Amino acid sequence: MPHEDPVQTRHELRENLRSLGLEAGYEVVVHPSLSSLGWVEGGADTVVDALLDVLGDRGTLAVPTFTSGLVESRPFDRCTSPSQTGAITEAVRCRASAVRSSHPTHSVTAIGCGASAITRAHPPMHSVGRGSPLHRLANRGGWILLVGVRHDRNSTIHVAERLAGLPFKGMPRTVPVRRDGDVVDIDVARVGCSRGFTTLEAAAEDAGIVRRGPVGVADCQLLRGDALIDLVGGMLSSDPGRLLCETDDCWWCADASAEL
Ligand SMILES: [Zn+2]
Repeated sequence: MPHEDPVQTRHELRENLRSLGLEAGYEVVVHPSLSSLGWVEGGADTVVDALLDVLGDRGTLAVPTFTSGLVESRPFDRCTSPSQTGAITEAVRCRASAVRSSHPTHSVTAIGCGASAITRAHPPMHSVGRGSPLHRLANRGGWILLVGVRHDRNSTIHVAERLAGLPFKGMPRTVPVRRDGDVVDIDVARVGCSRGFTTLEAAAEDAGIVRRGPVGVADCQLLRGDALIDLVGGMLSSDPGRLLCETDDCWWCADASAEL
């Protein structure tokens, strides 16, 4: 099919990422949309290569490889369950050097120097909470890179919610997990709604914690995880309902609002 956008190459993506501020040695969780980048020569694997080129041997690339919808129909298998968070995250998961955390619905997969340290023990009841890979990454001075997506895809905001100790947590969810040939049921913490997170964008810009620029034709944002958690923590301490959405059909935010 003909395409109108210019072709993006590994070299061009690499230079765009550097211009945005990504540097060798960084640890970064990337929330990417492949289609937002324009026409990428070689597809998702080219984007992964460009990211790894910039991060170098001392850096770490992490991505969400969530499977929340998948476990409805088949048990989670850490080795084979595909990521439901986009083609780039699945390309990372399929790399030989990738390490995936064990969480049945909210696993994180990483490549690089800090991959094992970030993805080790991932408690089922701390999906995106204290001690989860995303919390660990932020504590290590890690970065968040949004590629063509907004903050409603930024799962580190859920970490900040958990650290803020808000009263709404929801009932745990029981999901099937394949282990050593058997299928066992595991209780995991629900993560909740993120639709209201887009309202954070202006505050993050005002706080000066966001670097913004293009990668390919995608609008991208780069920010430190710890700075974001501090910002969200401050917002939630003065207004605990600040990030709840106002969508009519959202039972999570309606319940949460009632508990405040
Ligand atoms: Zn909601």
